[in-house]
Amino acid sequence: MKLEIKRLNALKKYSGDFEFETEPSADSCLIPLCKIDGKVRVKGEYEIYDDDSVGVNFTVYYRLAGQCSYCLKDAVKNIEKSFEILFVTEDDPDNYSYDGVSIDLTTAVNDAILFSQPNIILCKEDCTGIDVNN
Ligand SMILES: [Zn+2]
Repeated sequence: MKLEIKRLNALKKYSGDFEFETEPSADSCLIPLCKIDGKVRVKGEYEIYDDDSVGVNFTVYYRLAGQCSYCLKDAVKNIEKSFEILFVTEDDPDNYSYDGVSIDLTTAVNDAILFSQPNIILCKEDCTGIDVNN
C-alpha cells in the first residue's frame, strides 16, 4: 500500500483515510507453534504537514492461531492495536523516512505486526498449563 503524497498534495487532499488488507509474510509471527490466520487488515488516516512530513495513524487487525503456550491446546487470539507514526523526508532515527513523493507503508505495517504481538497465546485467560496430577 502506497500513499502518493506528491499527488495528494497537488490535489490539495492534505488529509484522508485509507484501508487495505495485506498478506502477512511467513516470518511475521514470533510466537512458537503459532501463525497469523488470514490477512492483516490495516485502517488509518494520514495528514500531510507544511514541511512535507506526514503523520500516519493506523490500526492493525489480525488473528493469531496456534497452540496454547502453556498447555498446547488450540488457541486463537484477535489482535487490534493502533500506532501513530511520522514520515519525514530526511534520515531520522526516531521516525520513518520517505522520498517526498510516495510513502510505502509495507515496512511500517510489518513493524506494527511485530510490535503488536503478545509473547504468548493462551487457550483461555486463566490457563494454568498441563495438569501434571492427571
Ligand atoms: Zn492452555
